Amino acid sequence: MNNLMAVAEVIKKAQRPLLCGHVMPDGDSLGSVLALGLGLQRLGKEVTLVSSDPVPDLYHFLPGVETVIVGEVPEGDYDLLVAVDFSVPDRLGSALHAFVKNGLPVAVIDHHVNDHPFGHYNYVRTEAAATGEIIMDLLDLLQIDLNLDLAINLYTAIVTDTGSFRYENTTSETHAKTARLLECGVPVSRLSNYIFGEQPLVLLRLLEAALGTLEVSDCGQIAWMSISREMVQSAGASGQHIEGLINYPRKIKGVELAIVFRELDEQRVKVSFRSKYQVDVNLLAKKFGGGGHVRASGCTVEGPLEQARELVLKEVKEFFREGSDGRHP
Ligand code: 5GP
Ligand code: MN
Ligand code: MN
Repeated sequence: MNNLMAVAEVIKKAQRPLLCGHVMPDGDSLGSVLALGLGLQRLGKEVTLVSSDPVPDLYHFLPGVETVIVGEVPEGDYDLLVAVDFSVPDRLGSALHAFVKNGLPVAVIDHHVNDHPFGHYNYVRTEAAATGEIIMDLLDLLQIDLNLDLAINLYTAIVTDTGSFRYENTTSETHAKTARLLECGVPVSRLSNYIFGEQPLVLLRLLEAALGTLEVSDCGQIAWMSISREMVQSAGASGQHIEGLINYPRKIKGVELAIVFRELDEQRVKVSFRSKYQVDVNLLAKKFGGGGHVRASGCTVEGPLEQARELVLKEVKEFFREGSDGRHP
């Protein structure tokens, strides 16, 4: 594994870097890409920011977000791809695959558990609560000073991946780094409203439908919801409104493991896992070809929805029963 200094050197040498976060972008991948992108522009580089999937409306306040090119990669003489907040090629998105296949050098900066990141240069720090924390260290190495635009992006990266500093991944370093961002003038209360406080009505309509599918296991420790395409459509919602819904089964007192099944199309169902104290959901997602973190992970399994739910729940219950090796309640 290369160290951060080595990745910083590679980035320093690049003149026309292509920066991307993962498919279905979240606050950490967008905030990290934008902070690094805005920073590298200040070094005089010709930076191109791309996202395979659209930027959720929620993140339209991020400084620089209007420069993110969605869905395709413009023709260009790029000399480096910087992959941010993921380290497996299947989270690249189809437009970027071709560049990697054609031999564009790749630098990976990530905090997900992965022993085999796909870059030529890799920096993976699983102790970082958000990739945004690593980007702050990288900016320091590149001698790029923080400013308010960078700080808003980095704060968003950190506050979203830590669930407002409430998740287990939050450390003293997370707070120390956040303090530096607040010194740049980040408007905390305003951002909290944008990110957590306000929700479009369609999201509440979708929540209403999703709660109608809520089920809890006999043991009271596993809770799940299922979201069909029909439900999303009738609520007038879209994929971007689904991300936070898993917090509802997770909130139930006594529940250790929360799951959301989301129908992507006839063949594919996206499964999200969250645990509170004991279950290693990264291991669980890995059983289905996915991954993530110990307390938050995901995977995509074969549909239709009911079949996916049965398959996953059967495996989950076995995983729970296996019991006493410290991974389970
Ligand atoms: P979410 O449930 O919010 O989509 O994802 C939770 C966490 O698991 C995120 O950190 C995300 O990066 C990771 N994750 C979600 N889906 C996948 C997947 O299909 N493969 C891998 N490797 N990680 C995933
Ligand atoms: Mn992410
Ligand atoms: Mn992240």
